[in-house]
Amino acid sequence: MKKLKKILIGTHNQGKFREISNLLSKRIKKISPISLKILSPKETGKSFLANSQLKANYFYKKSKIVSISDDSGLSIDCLNGKPGIFSARWAKKYGNFHKAMKKILYLVNKKNSKKKNKNFKAKFICCLSLKIPNKKIFSVTGTVKGKISSKIIGNKGFGYDPIFIPNKYIVTYGQMNRKKKMLIDHRFLAFKKLKKNLIFKKFFIL
Ligand code: IMP
Repeated sequence: MKKLKKILIGTHNQGKFREISNLLSKRIKKISPISLKILSPKETGKSFLANSQLKANYFYKKSKIVSISDDSGLSIDCLNGKPGIFSARWAKKYGNFHKAMKKILYLVNKKNSKKKNKNFKAKFICCLSLKIPNKKIFSVTGTVKGKISSKIIGNKGFGYDPIFIPNKYIVTYGQMNRKKKMLIDHRFLAFKKLKKNLIFKKFFIL
């Protein structure tokens, strides 16, 4: 089976770049689109899957290097799945992640204020796509279920980490050390599936 020599990690998000880099084998050279001066594409897809495929195809087309991209976000039950695919865009809309998290806590509490059966359920979803030259694109999804915390807690992660408590834990992603979070999160679950899939199809060892 072939061993992949280099890969482009198709994201401008430092947190995601770090996580995906750490999941890949040490022997693979990791390339950032920033170092090749490749801008991000417009995320015009209507689902995590469509956006992750759009990004992997785009970065491959621009670089001609095997490209991996994810599209991920936080989906909150009582907000009908929002912010979902708009997770990054909410941070822009409200000014930054801290402000977007404050807005989310406000909306979640408002929705629940008059309800007997309160619902703080949420999930982090990650669709990961890998584009291989002359081959189709491989896509997988990883989901981690949990709940929205009552406050913004923790400063260890990125994005919405400080308001998400995964099931079976009592702390937020933002309170966990990076290595621990990385080995239980939605991106890791998707990556595990992708690795299995590629080995099964005898393509690459990642
Ligand atoms: P996109 O996939 O580039 O559209 O961005 C997804 C957004 O979802 C990120 O900018 C983060 O705000 C959020 N997100 C995705 N994964 C994580 C995570 O592991 N922790 C915290 N926030 C995340």
